[in-house]
Amino acid sequence: MSDCIFCKIVSGQIPSQRVYEDDQVLAIRDINPQAPVHVLILPKQHIVSVLELTDSRLLGRMTVAAVHVAKREGIVERGFRLVTNTGPDGGQAVPHLHFHLLGGRKMEWPPG
Ligand code: AMP
Ligand code: ZN
Repeated sequence: MSDCIFCKIVSGQIPSQRVYEDDQVLAIRDINPQAPVHVLILPKQHIVSVLELTDSRLLGRMTVAAVHVAKREGIVERGFRLVTNTGPDGGQAVPHLHFHLLGGRKMEWPPG
């Protein structure tokens, strides 16, 4: 997708702080962090949201990558939040599937 901001990050057209990468998954620091640790985990392939996901193995890869990053960031002892905003009511601003990995502070529930 030529006009997708996350596809441009994957290709390197837009700079990002990469914290993890493999052949299918990229993790970057969020540009507007909402917690001391705020990392986005995204597939390198353009997929709009979980609604378009057909390969459950990819979701597994993203989850394993998120846990790997959480361990490296030192937030597994206290815990963290892993979410994927979907569609307008879900608060999704970037239409390229991503997990938010949030940690380093106590999260509130219910979310806003
Ligand atoms: P969402 O609202 O779930 O679609 O989340 C999109 C996230 O992408 C937001 O938390 C933004 O701060 C983040 N974001 C937008 N542009 C960039 C960028 N160039 N680099 C890193 N994170 C970004
Ligand atoms: Zn994309």
